[in-house]
Amino acid sequence: MPNLPDAVLWSIPAFVLLTVVEMVSYRLHPDEDAAGYAARDAVTSIGMGLGSLVFDALWKIPIVAIYTAVYELTPLRVPVLWWTVLLMLLAQDFCYYWSHRGHHVVRILWACHVVHHSSRKFNLSTALRQPWTSLTVWPFYLPLIACGVHPAALAFCSSVNLVYQFWIHTERIDKLPAAFEFVFNTPSHHRVHHASQGGYLDRNFGGILILWDRIFGSFVPEVERPEFGLTKNISTYNPLKVATHEYVAIARDLKQAADWRERAGRFLRGPGWQPTLAPAVAAQASASAPAPGTAATPLPASAPAPGTAAASVSTAGEVSRAGVPDEAH
Ligand SMILES: [Zn+2]
Ligand SMILES: [Zn+2]
Repeated sequence: MPNLPDAVLWSIPAFVLLTVVEMVSYRLHPDEDAAGYAARDAVTSIGMGLGSLVFDALWKIPIVAIYTAVYELTPLRVPVLWWTVLLMLLAQDFCYYWSHRGHHVVRILWACHVVHHSSRKFNLSTALRQPWTSLTVWPFYLPLIACGVHPAALAFCSSVNLVYQFWIHTERIDKLPAAFEFVFNTPSHHRVHHASQGGYLDRNFGGILILWDRIFGSFVPEVERPEFGLTKNISTYNPLKVATHEYVAIARDLKQAADWRERAGRFLRGPGWQPTLAPAVAAQASASAPAPGTAATPLPASAPAPGTAAASVSTAGEVSRAGVPDEAH
């Protein structure tokens, strides 16, 4: 077993210090346009971060068991050397991109990740707002284990990736030199990822590198000032509700679903997915519907809400956060 440190645990003092520095900076140099800090919001984010450490330790037990079994089965081995660690970081970041993107466009996965997006602020404490149900990310990294990456080496790479993403949760850093912005994920790129307005929805999924978004067509630069949060924000600071509200919404939708097709859609398609009306119902609806272009015009299944066409990730064919009907978004 390679002896690699847990970068997250070692970074906690730096997280605390930098968060305090950012809070003080808002006191000394207020920015009227910035979302800044709110005490209850920051306390909730920090609470979610502490809770995630506990739950992640719990989920680790079955996940490590699966990874170890696959590692024992594969004949491949990747040695832990300085240059292989760099390659493993790159490969882990690639898998992170797809895991992150998957957690935005599949609703049952979004139910876990929505926690991280549930603050309307965007500051260093927002980085700590982590899910408590991270039981759905492990399959995305299974190919690395199958290729002979030791589970402990993967855990190290994942912790480095999470630590990197801490400093990009800030409005205090504007754009960085163009070459850096081209390659790496930055505060500017990540502000777009946390924004809820049309053209910014479901963009910039990268962890360390923004190159993946440029390659796979999900990159959008920061042009207008982002509005942070969900398309329909939650109004609770209760950590348990923050952690589970979307699962509750899914359960409610499944209960009310008309058939199994709708149940599958509510569970597996994007969070904004709506079932198409049956032809007879649609015809009846259109007969009494207002003229096209008005707000009541029914949208086709998985279509973006008016004015949010650019929000859909074209290759995924799904809008995940636009036009979401329930209070969870
Ligand atoms: Zn996200
Ligand atoms: Zn984030």
